[in-house]
Amino acid sequence: MHQALYTEKRGEVIICSLCPHNCHVKKGMLGSCMSRYNNGQELIAANYGKVSALHFDPVEKKPLYHFFPGRIIFSIGSTGCNLHCLFCQNSEISQTSPDQFHSLHEYTPEDLVALARQRNENIGIAYTYNEPAVWFEFMLDIAVLSSEAGLKNVMVTNGFINPAPLDRLMPFMDAYSIDLKAFTEDFYRKVTKASLEPVKNTLQQIRRAGRHLEITNLVIPTLNDDDTIFEEMCRWISGELGADTVLHLSRYFPTYKMSIPGTPPSTLIRLRQLALKYLDYVFIGNITLPEGNDTLCNKCKKVVIRRNGYMTSADGLDNDGRCQNCGNFVAQVGSSHPGN
Ligand code: SF4
Repeated sequence: MHQALYTEKRGEVIICSLCPHNCHVKKGMLGSCMSRYNNGQELIAANYGKVSALHFDPVEKKPLYHFFPGRIIFSIGSTGCNLHCLFCQNSEISQTSPDQFHSLHEYTPEDLVALARQRNENIGIAYTYNEPAVWFEFMLDIAVLSSEAGLKNVMVTNGFINPAPLDRLMPFMDAYSIDLKAFTEDFYRKVTKASLEPVKNTLQQIRRAGRHLEITNLVIPTLNDDDTIFEEMCRWISGELGADTVLHLSRYFPTYKMSIPGTPPSTLIRLRQLALKYLDYVFIGNITLPEGNDTLCNKCKKVVIRRNGYMTSADGLDNDGRCQNCGNFVAQVGSSHPGN
């Protein structure tokens, strides 16, 4: 049993301040994320050491397009999530507790770092599949070891985490792929059972820390595809995080508790054109379209990274990630094992 961090005991209730829900967890109960359990003495990180999935994935699948393009990353996940999105794509692992999910395997941080190092072309470890913020203690222990081994660490997250734990992770986390699910409190409250403001704070905190950051926005017809609000979001990203922040527009498909039909390609194309008024790098994902795949240098407009599905070629960049044509920095790249 592994004790959870960021807790305060008040009688039989334990307050968890890992994420902005700040749950008051009663004795014998789990927090809203179904990952932290009050055993009457302390709050237990119930999913510590428990792995639901592990794969070597293309880094583009996270999605990260400007972070070691064309490389693979060892990707791991557990169970639980502090959001309860009606359209969740991974509800079988995210909306369950470790006790209810029967295909968990036990690993130590040392085991996982050793597995990550088995493939020379691997750049590091991505914490993904379910929400890694609610795997905090285990993720932190792995990330510390992994960093010492010279591997990169990547968090694929909803960004709903309090500032202090995020700050604690920051020295060990090299890149963040953040879901910005919409740009209204109303959407977050009704569709995710959370709130927008803490996610905006997370994005700003990561930008201030200078870590690599890419944003994914899943476009759901009628719920978050309004042009005016979408433009407001893009203006905010550009102003607060920088016009060079990578934005992925992802196609939604009906799943879990949501039956709205999938996003029409024309919506994604229209929103991409709107986003390009404010942002330099906007891509379309979850669908193959002729546009919105390649990276054009934001200074000279030459194609520097070509993508065809998960086949990626960064031939237009030099070894420092600069455009071969004009010398402008575009992406973090690497041609060898970061730990070597
Ligand atoms: S991490 Fe879990 S238990 Fe802690 S506040 Fe968030 S939802 Fe509640």
